[in-house]
Amino acid sequence: MNQTHRVKRIGIFGSTGSIGTQALEVIAEHPDKFSAEVLTCNGNDDLLIEQAIKYKPNIVVITDESKYLKVKDALSATDVKVFAGEKALEEVAAMDVYDLMLAAIVGYAGLKPTLKAIDSGKPVALANKETLVVAGDIVMQTAIEKRVPIIPVDSEHSAIFQCLVGEMRNPIEKVILTASGGPFLGRKPNYLVNVKREHALQHPNWTMGAKISIDSATLMNKGLEMIEAKWLFNLHPSQIEVLIHPQSIIHSMVQFEDGSVKAQLGLPDMKLPIQYAMAFPQRITNEYPRCDFRKIKSLTFEEPDIRTFKNLGLAIEALNKGGNLPCVLNAANEIAVYAFLRNRIGFLDMTDVIERVMEKIPFIAKPSLEEYFDSDGDAREYAADLIKL
Ligand code: NAD
Ligand code: MG
Repeated sequence: MNQTHRVKRIGIFGSTGSIGTQALEVIAEHPDKFSAEVLTCNGNDDLLIEQAIKYKPNIVVITDESKYLKVKDALSATDVKVFAGEKALEEVAAMDVYDLMLAAIVGYAGLKPTLKAIDSGKPVALANKETLVVAGDIVMQTAIEKRVPIIPVDSEHSAIFQCLVGEMRNPIEKVILTASGGPFLGRKPNYLVNVKREHALQHPNWTMGAKISIDSATLMNKGLEMIEAKWLFNLHPSQIEVLIHPQSIIHSMVQFEDGSVKAQLGLPDMKLPIQYAMAFPQRITNEYPRCDFRKIKSLTFEEPDIRTFKNLGLAIEALNKGGNLPCVLNAANEIAVYAFLRNRIGFLDMTDVIERVMEKIPFIAKPSLEEYFDSDGDAREYAADLIKL
């Protein structure tokens, strides 16, 4: 952070989403520590305008160019600069107007602006896990070259990150990613086959955007998080375990070489990891509810049911094989989730689409950035063909 700014200027990429709006609440609670300098969204112009009037950022970007004039007009009496389009997102990511990017766009769309920020030497608080799933090697290599910290926002990775503070020289034996199990924990395929969108969107412990809610219901989210963990913490796939923990109190654990295990606990509330990532290395006070262990009584654990929740198995396959396979898995998953959310395919069909796309797209062991882009495009196209979108 620039020493002359006592207030950390946050660039929230994806400010209208679940993570983005919660980050703005954190900023509103700590105006002495943070300001919202950049706000961006895809198409929710009304909310973006409302946020811009309330938080007075330097810049807003709306990716959907057809909405540019409406946003520009609505903010004409303010000093807020308005840009539109995908390219603008990357250009603003490279600008020296903010101190920390909060990467809170959902899906592949977050990759280019995040990579641009890293390439421009901007620290990143990373919620957008797909960025690491698609091109984790290139993203992390760029971060190392540019000496840019990437601080995880995903609650599991924030937990691991917090467990690793003070352990720089101590190798990790393994990490244990906890998973709530989602709304269909314990269910079998004969039940899942009839599951509808509304039901799948109801997560027991967290309120999140639509895509990650579906990914949580299929357990794809945990698979994406295994790949995310591999890149963030430089792990071999065999060092990453998943454990179902329905209470979502332990957010994840690290086991060291002496067998000692550290865990990070707390009530499930994304504002905590968001705040931690924004304030790192400080912890700041808040008034959020505290964890009362007398009320929780028991913490339980079980093995994930990969035979039923096959998406997790597919993600593990992609994690193990590497190359462009995680990128292909992610692209096929984004199309499949999109189709499921529009009631075009059933819950279990999502797995078939992803599996077939993974079989079809040629494997590349060490892709360039261009090859990742192409793999993503080819996988989307083939998935859309399969679904007849
Ligand atoms: P969301 O759908 O609620 O919000 C997504 C944001 O991205 C919105 O501001 C939207 O306008 C913007 N966006 C969408 N498509 C875009 C595009 N093509 N171009 C530019 N902007 C676009 O999503 P969310 O739940 O806030 O999740 C954001 C990211 O954080 C995801 O990668 C998700 O996996 C991760 N994450 C979310 C949670 C959570 O609790 N919501 C927890 C952990 C990780
Ligand atoms: Mg998570």
